[in-house]
Amino acid sequence: MQSVEDFMQQFFKEHVAFEQAKLAAYRPFRDRFFVDDYKPLSPHSMLRSCESEKVCSIEPSGSEATVITSATFLSIQLKLRYRLRSRSGGWVITKVEAFCKVCNGTGKFADGRECTRCEGTGWDDLGT
Ligand SMILES: [Zn+2]
Repeated sequence: MQSVEDFMQQFFKEHVAFEQAKLAAYRPFRDRFFVDDYKPLSPHSMLRSCESEKVCSIEPSGSEATVITSATFLSIQLKLRYRLRSRSGGWVITKVEAFCKVCNGTGKFADGRECTRCEGTGWDDLGT
């Protein structure tokens, strides 16, 4: 069985390669219409974010695991939570969530109402 750490390291490496391929495809479009590294559409920022991602913790639970990572996107520090499920001797990602900065992970606004961004979970589902 592949370790969660090995799976995540392989994921990071292939995610960077994917972002590099996107950057190569973007380059002629950018060169034609934008100044270098135009931020709002720039895959440079996504590539740098992927390159910065590191595993903070791994919590296995039977055939599932939860992995917390950190990454920097532009100047924003991100904390991501991956949900993994075992699949044929390895792992597959079932969910990716970002730590909710609106409620600071509490799931509630300062006045006690449920956070509308993360719907009270403290984590923002990136797949929805
Ligand atoms: Zn929230």
